[in-house]
Amino acid sequence: MRPSTGASITPVDASTEQPLGQVPEGTEADIDAAVAAARAAFDDPTGWASWEPARRAEVMDRLADAIDKRADGFVERVSAQNGMPVAVARQLEVGYPSAVLRYYAGLAREAAFEETTAGLFGGSIEVRRLPVGVVAAIVPWNFPQALTMFKIAPAMAAGCTLVIKPSPETVLDAYLLAEAVEEAEVPAGVINMVQAGREAGAYLVSHPAVDKVAFTGSTAAGRAIAEVCGRLLRPVTLELGGKSAAIVLDDADLDLTKIGEGLFGATLLNNGQTCFLGTRVLAPRSRYAKVVDAFTALAGSLNIGDASDPATQIGPMATARQRERVETYIAKGRGDGARLTTGGGRPAGLDRGWFVQPTVFADVDNSSVIAQEEIFGPVLSLIPHDDVDAAVRIANDSDFGLGGTVWTSDPERGAAVVHRVRTGTIGVNRSIPDPAAPFGGVKASGLGRELGPEGLSAYQQTQTVYA
Ligand code: NAD
Repeated sequence: MRPSTGASITPVDASTEQPLGQVPEGTEADIDAAVAAARAAFDDPTGWASWEPARRAEVMDRLADAIDKRADGFVERVSAQNGMPVAVARQLEVGYPSAVLRYYAGLAREAAFEETTAGLFGGSIEVRRLPVGVVAAIVPWNFPQALTMFKIAPAMAAGCTLVIKPSPETVLDAYLLAEAVEEAEVPAGVINMVQAGREAGAYLVSHPAVDKVAFTGSTAAGRAIAEVCGRLLRPVTLELGGKSAAIVLDDADLDLTKIGEGLFGATLLNNGQTCFLGTRVLAPRSRYAKVVDAFTALAGSLNIGDASDPATQIGPMATARQRERVETYIAKGRGDGARLTTGGGRPAGLDRGWFVQPTVFADVDNSSVIAQEEIFGPVLSLIPHDDVDAAVRIANDSDFGLGGTVWTSDPERGAAVVHRVRTGTIGVNRSIPDPAAPFGGVKASGLGRELGPEGLSAYQQTQTVYA
């Protein structure tokens, strides 16, 4: 990073609305410099891309250690900036990113980067898995460290170099990551970062010296990026929005003392600002009132407060704009005749910070706006279903296909249902992405996969040698 031309970004504490500092805003010239550094590091014939993968893995392990040393700083900065409760940040913004890095260091050591087999028509065939090149990595603010690491780790394992553009809402944690990169002695030019907004992001996506784009963010921005990458024939991975279903079967145990934590993680995690949440809850008509009561009790019982308080379960929305968006959807839900069972307003006694009460609508029609569009806040839509077939049909009646869950006392029955849902990931009675397995969406939720061995392939291209 280098200081720039005067414009600056002011991150704000989402719980208090107080400025947290000021950082210089990167310009197109900064992006040019970052891409040039990444390009030079990648093209160096004896540099990073040419190293044995196991040598790159050593650097990755050092980086994971340097990140872990800064755990408290990451937790504090992330939750101040985006309102993520510190308890959630401790679970997913530290520990998890370094685990992803160590997982890919392991893959770098074990995966076959060159394989020779006998050719079908004689001779031998060598398949080389080469790094795709300079990667433009663009990330949102909701899980800034985890989502950045979903890109850094496989790209490093493959031998790529990166230019990362964090979201302007979460710039301070990115500085800690830059510090860790320096301490770990990642070779110069391998990881570069530019703090800037969407215009600079667009400039980076179409930069002539970039070889691949990896984007996580909204479906609207993803479509714009895909158009540019399509024109340039540039490989792109897109992790976009979601409106997943939490399918409650008629045999589900609704005792919140047993499944409350799991349901919370699957439907309301990080103040509802998590892409894979099952915010459409499909409830069996035979036990409909019980399911409505359970979700109403769950949402109504959560501790709402300053994200820095370890007891907080629901913090504020990340920005004033995000709260406005959520409140607009709540108004649409009311206007469309859905039945509000809890929440719907701002919590009492929290006059500063962009708080919204966890909100449950019952009797929602799946074709209504609040059931079809991503709200990205703590708002659940409960939709009745008559049987498993109807639940599957409603789950699949969505433009999105990112996550989802099935809640049942019978795991075998649950497995049979999840296999019928058109979505990139889905869980039986749980839902947190596992670093060792592919993560991503179908339909408007994106293209390609991150995590797992598939995540490494996304940063490689093959060269086949006939000998
Ligand atoms: P956003 O699309 O507005 O911004 C995301 C990032 O892209 C930011 O860094 C932004 O500056 C940049 N950007 C925006 N438009 C761009 C463009 N045209 N070209 C290049 N860069 C551009 O999204 P957001 O509001 O920051 O994040 C919330 C969205 O992200 C939600 O829709 C959520 O579902 C999605 N998300 C998806 C996943 C996933 O893995 N599928 C994970 C987290 C968040």
